Amino acid sequence: MNAIIKKTFRRNNALTKLRSFLDANEPGLVRVLYRLWDSQKKEITYKEIRAAILSGDLDADYIEQWREEYAAFVMEYLYPEWVKAMDEAAAEFKTRYKGYIFNPMADGIAEWTRNRAAAFITEVTDTQMEGLRAVINRAVQLDGLGADNLAHVIRPMIGLTRDQSLANMRYYENAIESGMKEVRAQEQAIKYAERQHRYRAYNIARTELSFAYNQGSYQGVKQAQEQGYMTHPVKVWCTADDERVCPVCGALDGMKIGIDDDFPFRTKLQDPGIRRTPPAHPSCRCAVYYEEEVTKSVS
Ligand SMILES: [Zn+2]
Repeated sequence: MNAIIKKTFRRNNALTKLRSFLDANEPGLVRVLYRLWDSQKKEITYKEIRAAILSGDLDADYIEQWREEYAAFVMEYLYPEWVKAMDEAAAEFKTRYKGYIFNPMADGIAEWTRNRAAAFITEVTDTQMEGLRAVINRAVQLDGLGADNLAHVIRPMIGLTRDQSLANMRYYENAIESGMKEVRAQEQAIKYAERQHRYRAYNIARTELSFAYNQGSYQGVKQAQEQGYMTHPVKVWCTADDERVCPVCGALDGMKIGIDDDFPFRTKLQDPGIRRTPPAHPSCRCAVYYEEEVTKSVS
């Protein structure tokens, strides 16, 4: 096979495999997140939200409770999906190397899982608390709309990020300003919140599955190296077709670096080794393929 054809084949193969894994496994996690947010909405009462609007701050602190609920979500649902993702990503090496064994319990994987679980729980909890506090602050400024009404608008937003919650509140305010009846405006805001929950759920599912999948192939190569199957592995970034125009991923396509080197993208996340593999940003569907470095002989 000529080099360009081989490269194109590997690239498409890496992207297709990741994509089909995501397509098959995102919906399950999305459903669980919907259920979790529905129960979190019910835990907080309209009365508490109303009191928060009147006093200017949320009295009851849901941070601890949400953190525990997300920790349970990780243990029961996310972790098994991570393991599945890693197994599937590393399966490639079983086909490539006869006798290769992938150990999903290896130290590197256990460490990644611990770090990612802790970071995930903090991120999601803090993000939605910022969302709730932001709309309560906004509601304080909207005293003309009534704390009772606003409590009914705010509760369905539980689980959304700060930007999403504020966008929803603006949507409701605009509806009222344009003369829509309160009940109708509330219904519309609730429908909008449903679409926003869907967006956030897919965003979380895709990002977390992609983290684990890419981590699986990275750790799979490390193990192949330890078992003597690869001597000088390198990795090549494959930008997803719909991300060619992405300002972060567009420039990374085809970049080849040593397996323990970092790809040059900016991220807010602090996880150790975060630049070693995709995703480069939430919902990123880029992949990486690994190959043996071919050194040209100078004869
Ligand atoms: Zn990407």
